[in-house]
Amino acid sequence: MYCRKCGAKLNDTAKFCDSCGEAVIVVKQRSDSQKYEERQTKETKKKSQQKIEELKNPYVIPALGTAILAFGLAIFPWPVSWGIGTSLWMRILILLIALLSDYHCTKSRQVNNLYNIQYRYRVQPQLVTTATVLATLTTAVALFALINM
Ligand SMILES: [Zn+2]
Repeated sequence: MYCRKCGAKLNDTAKFCDSCGEAVIVVKQRSDSQKYEERQTKETKKKSQQKIEELKNPYVIPALGTAILAFGLAIFPWPVSWGIGTSLWMRILILLIALLSDYHCTKSRQVNNLYNIQYRYRVQPQLVTTATVLATLTTAVALFALINM
């Protein structure tokens, strides 16, 4: 260690320079290996953040899409004269789409649970909840309509 003012050699424990009296300021030197480790840690952090940004729950859109489709078909004001709205095949169709949605809702929740455990991150939980409510409701209504033919 050398004095930053006069350049005299200093003891490692010296607080002041023996030659000029300048206060000794110890600048902590980081070794190369420390720097390397710090850089590695930063990069790992960055990577894990990227991973979270790239996380997508592939079941959310199909779950919501089919839920809205089934619900829409169920509440659509079909003209009575068409005979479609109350027909057997329409009830079956709505039930099938609703069941498809139920399946995708379940898958969405499973994927979100997995992400939550691994990364403490959930993908579009509100959409999953909305789809689940819609799909469950539509399934119940369609089942009820089928049974009461
Ligand atoms: Zn000095």
